[in-house]
Amino acid sequence: MSDIARNLDAVHRRIVQAARAAGRDSASVRLLAVSKTFSAQDVRTAFAAGQRAFGENYVQEAIGKIEALAELRADLEWHFIGPLQSNKTRPVAEHFDWVHSVDRLKIAQRLSEQRPDTLPALNVCLQVNVSGEASKSGVSAADAPALAHEIAALPRLTLRGLMSIPEPAADPDAQRVPHRVLRALFDDLRAEGLALDTLSMGMSADLEAAVLEGATLVRIGTAVFGARDYAH
Ligand SMILES: *Cc1c(COP(=O)(O)O)cnc(C)c1O
Repeated sequence: MSDIARNLDAVHRRIVQAARAAGRDSASVRLLAVSKTFSAQDVRTAFAAGQRAFGENYVQEAIGKIEALAELRADLEWHFIGPLQSNKTRPVAEHFDWVHSVDRLKIAQRLSEQRPDTLPALNVCLQVNVSGEASKSGVSAADAPALAHEIAALPRLTLRGLMSIPEPAADPDAQRVPHRVLRALFDDLRAEGLALDTLSMGMSADLEAAVLEGATLVRIGTAVFGARDYAH
């Protein structure tokens, strides 16, 4: 068994345990394997172990992998989760199934305009800055509802839910606080009539806190592929 297959098993066990502690069905939590900085071969290894959804942060790097794995394309789901500049929207609209990091109307409009007619609508999540630091990407919780309604009206996008990257916290109770804020916003938007089904929150260090607060998709890199090396 490969290290990646073993790691995937361990992450699935963490999801099952956290879901059980939350009184939730573990099938309601999807695993997105974050493959940034790892090779197409590593993605192939994870695929052989049953993993189907992969997250990427850097457009050029991701497209190299998507092309290298073209023969698996129909069975793979590619999620763009990194910061997105408006001059990079076209390749993302053309190659990905999901974008989690939409935080401005202009980006959403470009993705909608550039989504090829031959593909289904692009699934998107609105990235919300739940910790409130000025430097981070993500729309503020206060501005999120208006933006969500505008994005939901775009023809070639399907607004699926919300995503956040909270400030790291070591304490498990502290980790739950920003996830609870995102969950409350998610519930509010659904109550306003938006058909959202995805709460994208939780990474390797705070998977349990996120599942306890209602995550439906956890984005896990390190715990699946190992520590990242940005040197090369
Ligand atoms: C890198 C990254 C992850 C994965 O982080 P790990 O701590 O390695 O699990 C998840 N989400 C986003 C947006 C990322 O950039």
